[in-house]
Amino acid sequence: MPAHSGADRLDAASSSTQPLPPAAPTATGNGNANGIGSVPMNSNYRLRLIPHQNHKPDNYDDLQSEFTPIFFSSLERYLPPQLLNVPREAKYKYMRGILRRYSSEGDRARAKKHKEYRQKIISNYQPLYRDLYELDATTFFVPSFIEAFMASDSNIVQSIKSIMSEPAPGVYTFNMLQPRFCEKLLAEVENFEKWITETKFGVMRPNTMNKYGAVLDDIGMESMLHKLMEDFIRHISRVFFADVGGYSLDSHHGFVVQYGLNRDVELGFHVDDSEVTLNVCLGKQFSGGELFFRGVRCDKHVHNEALPEEIFEYSHVPGHAIIHRGRHRHGARPTTAGSRVNLLLWCRSAVFRELKKHNNGYASWCGDCQREKRERLIQAVSEKKAEMLRERVVHD
Ligand SMILES: [Zn+2]
Repeated sequence: MPAHSGADRLDAASSSTQPLPPAAPTATGNGNANGIGSVPMNSNYRLRLIPHQNHKPDNYDDLQSEFTPIFFSSLERYLPPQLLNVPREAKYKYMRGILRRYSSEGDRARAKKHKEYRQKIISNYQPLYRDLYELDATTFFVPSFIEAFMASDSNIVQSIKSIMSEPAPGVYTFNMLQPRFCEKLLAEVENFEKWITETKFGVMRPNTMNKYGAVLDDIGMESMLHKLMEDFIRHISRVFFADVGGYSLDSHHGFVVQYGLNRDVELGFHVDDSEVTLNVCLGKQFSGGELFFRGVRCDKHVHNEALPEEIFEYSHVPGHAIIHRGRHRHGARPTTAGSRVNLLLWCRSAVFRELKKHNNGYASWCGDCQREKRERLIQAVSEKKAEMLRERVVHD
């Protein structure tokens, strides 16, 4: 039996002693660190959780900024109402202030270097299929996926639910990508790997846990993936993940991971640096590589044991997607034969991360937080009862 048999891993992963990595795997150099800097903001000037849908944001492409221009356009819809129609420069300064609270000077220096790194790839790497770099729903997606998003406002929730299966609480699966698109994206990634080998380019891998794979945002697919998030994933998130930002997803980290011979074998138990994670299998032929899930937990409870009903295992199907909260603890079992490539989109919400700082320590999306809250309530009630009884004894 191989050292990492499925059964061994299941036991280890479900026990409370299974170590998660000390920190969530974070994207390299995207300047999206948590909780650094804490300048108190005027409460009247907080971002809104519900976007101004009809507001047309300014274009920030021409500004020299340490942050991606597209990010400001997305964030603009969440501005406090009194800031919506002020001059662009004022909005820019306000939003940059918020973004800077999330990133230290070191982060910003890294972001600048990362921009230069991306520029180096984009000006030297020749894409194999240029049509992959711009989102085209009719050639990317299966018809059922496209149709689900064409419903009217009043029907869209039902329409999205109709293409989804929920094999375990908080885990949704659906058919998404056309076989031809998967083939082309696989070939593009292979072409990029070939270019890395030929040029000996010092490439950055997708995260701290994968030694193989490619960051699609770095090779020119950032705006395509941003559109995928804005036009599709945000709607799914609004329906199923309102408690972790819902529709407010505004930035992403898009990459592919490769498993199999001469690639990564498995992925340990972890949580993602995302609010919502989309994971789509591109192929090819493989056995093993199942995803295992162990319930959603906040930082405080991330090492706690899973409940029996939270234990779930998913087998990948090429073209099919699985979507879950980033804080849903999971890992990938060894790919035992063949090769498996998956497309990952970590979707984040600056608004959600901002609001999270103001909550009272209980996360509505963490199973253990909710259990603790219920227990405290029960305890408070019984203490009150005891107190009332004592009072009655005194008065009697
Ligand atoms: Zn918790």
